[in-house]
Parts: sequence; structure tokens; C-alpha cells
Amino acid sequence: MRRPALVYVLMAAVIAAAAGLAYYGYRYSRELSIRERAVILDTMRELAEEKIIGIESELIKSANAVFHRVDISNLLELQKFLGTERPAIESVVILDESLSIVPGGFFTKRRGDQIAEFRELLQSRVIADLDLPNAQVDQRGDLHAYYHGRPYLFSYMRQSSAGRTYYVILEADLDYLVSTVFPQFFAVRSPRLYQVVDSAGELVYGFDFSSAPGDVVVELSFVETVDRWRLRVAQREGMALASESSRRAMDLLLIGSALVVILAGLAILLWGLRREQRANELKSEFISNVSHELKTPLSIISMFGEMLALGRTRSVEQATEYAEIIWRESQRLARLIDNVLDFAKIERGVNAYEFAEGHLEDVIERAVALSLRRVQSADMIIETQIAPGLPVLRMDEGALTLATLNLIDNAIKYAPSGKRIELSLRPEPDRVALEVRDFGPGIAVDEQARIFERFYRARAVRLKPIRGSGIGLALVKHIAEAHHGDVEVASEPGQGATFRLWIPAPARG
Ligand code: ADP
Repeated sequence: MRRPALVYVLMAAVIAAAAGLAYYGYRYSRELSIRERAVILDTMRELAEEKIIGIESELIKSANAVFHRVDISNLLELQKFLGTERPAIESVVILDESLSIVPGGFFTKRRGDQIAEFRELLQSRVIADLDLPNAQVDQRGDLHAYYHGRPYLFSYMRQSSAGRTYYVILEADLDYLVSTVFPQFFAVRSPRLYQVVDSAGELVYGFDFSSAPGDVVVELSFVETVDRWRLRVAQREGMALASESSRRAMDLLLIGSALVVILAGLAILLWGLRREQRANELKSEFISNVSHELKTPLSIISMFGEMLALGRTRSVEQATEYAEIIWRESQRLARLIDNVLDFAKIERGVNAYEFAEGHLEDVIERAVALSLRRVQSADMIIETQIAPGLPVLRMDEGALTLATLNLIDNAIKYAPSGKRIELSLRPEPDRVALEVRDFGPGIAVDEQARIFERFYRARAVRLKPIRGSGIGLALVKHIAEAHHGDVEVASEPGQGATFRLWIPAPARG
């Protein structure tokens, strides 16, 4: 398999593995938290059940203790017992078979008017609601009911002794239940919050915890005794479940950032790979371009040299013309080799420049003189404008000559249709600017920055038989930057191109 193909396959495998891992991690963390939540809710439910059983068995125990004490023939004994030992019972009432209160069979902790009120309530409503005739002997029954908006808990039992059947009704002391029994069961310093509510959701006991998230509250009804009340349990705020959601967010963040890192790494790798690939392509293109560029002038030189050597000329003028061709081509060859050598030096990072004080106008004049013949043979003219009074600059004359020659060469190569090259050199605040302007086809906007990249050749010329290696402008840019200046292009396609090279001038003192 070819190397790039192998790399792509490997990358796809890495992405798939990373995605799989992320998915697995995400699912694992989700399942874990679902399981954790289920465990917490189960624990809370079990606790709630335990509390309910505990509270109800307290209520039943104290009721049973009274039921077993009732002796219809010795009610005084019962009165004594109630007075000393049973704080959880508010009232005891004993009815005969016709559901009338037996003489001496009414005990209550109530005082004053409340005694008569309670008796009245009992006779008018409670006894009917208890459904006593259907009660089984020695079987406890319970009624949790609201009368005039107040809660009551009654336990009742049908009993018989010495051939007499009677009913015992107990009223539980709900104030005692709420104020003393509940606090014993629902320790204040527990990691959970408890609350008892009635069927309308009104708070009977405990703190309001409406702020707890709804899905972490367990709610169970009391079963046998106060069955119109419900026990609600919530996790204290900031405990397990709350922190669990932030832990999941953390898990997600970690998984997400790991994925991002992996993908970013792969993207950088891919980008590097593509760059390397592109650079390799450009290099081989460059080699073939340069070889081609070397070959053409060389074969021209060799052909005309041979003609001259063999005396195959018809006139002196023709011989001069051949010699000129040889001279021109050898100059082009020299420049190309200069370009390649300088470029190679720059690529190797060798300091390729030698700076000395000099005049840029001299450089420009030399470059124009050197290009004149090529300009003429391209049937073009070159107009030079050099402003007077230019400052002395520190520069590498050889390098700047090469840069100018490259710019003029390009105008000849790519813009002969414009017929004219304008070259101007003028001072600007703090710098000196050289402009080479042609009137040829110009450069597409999206390629204007790219033509300064090494080996880059514009789309418009790639298919044309215009020789080039793509290093000329890269070299010009490098030379400008070595002088702490820069080069830029302004061009409107079809309107020609203006290359502007500037280098900073020393402040005038
Ligand atoms: P080369 O000329 O060897 O291809 P350069 O680096 O000198 O390399 O130029 C890069 C590209 O910029 C050229 O291939 C050409 O497409 C474009 N270019 C340069 N100068 C001009 C110009 N004056 N007019 C139009 N296109 C130009």
C-alpha cells in the first residue's frame, strides 16, 4: 500500500477508536449515574418504609396496650392506667352493643368545653363512620379522618367478656405524635430531609424542601394508622445527587476535550502531510522547470556557437546577431543560476547578504541597462523615473539588482502585450519605494498573495509555454525582508500589475 493511503487508513482507525472510546465512556458514565441514582432512591425508599413501620408500630403498640387493659367490669383500673402511663392516647370511649356510651366509659385528656364538643362529635359522626357493627371480635380497626378541618386517629375493637359485647374506641394523641414521636424518628442531623404531609399536600411535620429536585424525592403513604398522611424523603441539598450531576458534566467535559485534542492532533497531522505532499510536488515541478530553463538557453548557445565556429554566417551583421543571441542567452542563464544559488542559500538558512552603503538609483540603472536588450527584443519600452535626492541606504547591491531584474524579467515574460514597463524610484516618509508597473494581464486577486510563495506559479501561466521556476518572487520578497522592507503587488486582472518594493531609509539627522 502507498504510504499516504496507509496513513489515511490509520487516521480513520484512530478516529473510529477515539469515537468508540468516547461513546463507551459517555455511556459508562451515564449508566453509572443512573445506577447510582437508583441505589440512592432505593435506599431512601427503604428508609422511608422503615420509618413508617416504626411509627405505626409505636401507635399500634400503645393502642394494643390499652385494648388489653380494658376490663368492662373494672373501669376504674383503666382510668388509673390512663392517668399515669399512656401519653399517646387522648381519649378512650366504651360503647355497649347498642353503640351507647356505657356508664363510666368515657375518658379524655380534654378539658372544659372541649369535653362536651368531643362527645358530641363522637356521637354525631365518629361512631357512624367507624362501622362498628361489622367489626370482628378482638380485631383492631383504624380510622384516620378530618372533622372540622382537624385530624383525628381512632382505633377501635369489638370485645366480649362474660357474655357481653362492647366496643372500645381509642383516640390517639396526634399532637404528641407530631411533637414527640416524629422528631425521635426523623433525626435533625440526618443526611436526609423528612416531611409529613396530608392528602392535600399541606405540611404536617418537617421542613419545606420544595427546592429539592422533584425526581430525588421519595414519597410513601402511611398504611394502617394515619393513612391519610404521607412521608416524603429528600436528599439534603448539595449531597450525592446534586454533585453527581456536576460529576457527569465533568466526565462529559473530559471526554469532549480528549476527543477535541485527538481530532485537533489528527487535523494538524493531516495538514502537515498535505503540506509535505504539496512541497514535494512543487519541488519536483521546480526541478523540471529549472532543467527546462537551463536546457533552452544552453541549446540556443550551443546551436549559434556551432554556427559561428563553423563559419556558417552570411554576413558580419549576421555573425554579430548570433553573438548577441549567445550573449543574451548566457546572461539569462547566469541570472537563472544566480537565482537558484541564492535561493538555495536562503533555503539552507545561510546568511546570503553583504550589506554596504550605496545608492539604490545606481542599482536600478544597472538593472535597467542589463534588461534593455531583452525589453527591446520583446518589442517593449521601459520608462524609468528616478526622483532626485534619494538617501544613502545600507543594502546588498547584488541582491537588490537581482530583485529588480526579476521584477523587470517578469514584466517582460508575463506582460509583453502591455508594451510598456514603468519603473519609478522615489522617497517616501522613512522609506524608499521602487515600483515596477506593467500593463499586461495582471494577476487574479486570490493569487496575489500566493505568487510570493516559493515554487508558486499562477494558474494563468501554468499551461502556457512561459518558462519559469516559481522562485523569482519568493527571492524578491526574501531580499526585501532582509532589508527590513517588503514587497507587495497591486493588480486588477486585465489592467496590468504593479509590484512595489520598499526598504526603510535611515532617519535624516
Ligand atoms: P516564475 O516567473 O519563475 O514563474 P516568479 O516567482 O517570478 O516565478 O513568479 C511567480 C508567478 O507570479 C508567475 O508564475 C506568474 O504567474 C506570476 N507573475 C509574476 N509577475 C507577473 C506579472 N508581471 N504579471 C502577471 N503575472 C505575474
